[in-house]
Amino acid sequence: MENILSHNATSNHLISDMPQQPQSVKQTIVEMVKAMQADFGRTFQNQFHDPEVLAEFKNRLLTKLRGYPPGAIISGYEQCVDRNPKFCPTVPEIEASTKEIIKNLEQAEKNRIETQRLAALPAPTISCNPVEMFAKAKESHDSEKLTSEQRMKKRDEAMKNHNALLIIHSHLIKRVYADYDHLCKFPGCRKAGSISRGTKGGDNFYCLQHFRLV
Ligand SMILES: [Zn+2]
Repeated sequence: MENILSHNATSNHLISDMPQQPQSVKQTIVEMVKAMQADFGRTFQNQFHDPEVLAEFKNRLLTKLRGYPPGAIISGYEQCVDRNPKFCPTVPEIEASTKEIIKNLEQAEKNRIETQRLAALPAPTISCNPVEMFAKAKESHDSEKLTSEQRMKKRDEAMKNHNALLIIHSHLIKRVYADYDHLCKFPGCRKAGSISRGTKGGDNFYCLQHFRLV
């Protein structure tokens, strides 16, 4: 087992100095544990009074955090402390937090690049006249004066075409069925239950069809 304490016995610069000095993950962990000792005082003493436990904690941190940038590790630790200031963060908590910090940084960088890219593009030119388009659409709609009977007939035809297409392409249609727990509560119905009279959850959910019946 490596002893990370002795390896870094000489390193005692402050965490706030970090960005200036590139440092190893080992150094970072030593500093983080020092910070933890200061931040959690008695809680830290109770948890790590056994030097073997502390050494094991550090070694585990080293194993899990190797390869992460020291800055992200420290920010990850600080985030853990902000979220739960009463207890020393665990190794998985620190690792998850570090990963989250890195992900956020990557996203921020992506957003920055995207913003630059968009700023570099020429301003969009508007080549259509929305007012004119609207007038035309309105005109064509108004000119099509159908009686309600004709309209129904037209709709029926469209529905027929639609259903025929559904049959032709049925082998291509991906059907997603609701889980058993999410089914309509009407006996025998296989649809998803999506509507309920309850406003606090936990009530029976029905499909649109059966909701009208119950
Ligand atoms: Zn139903």
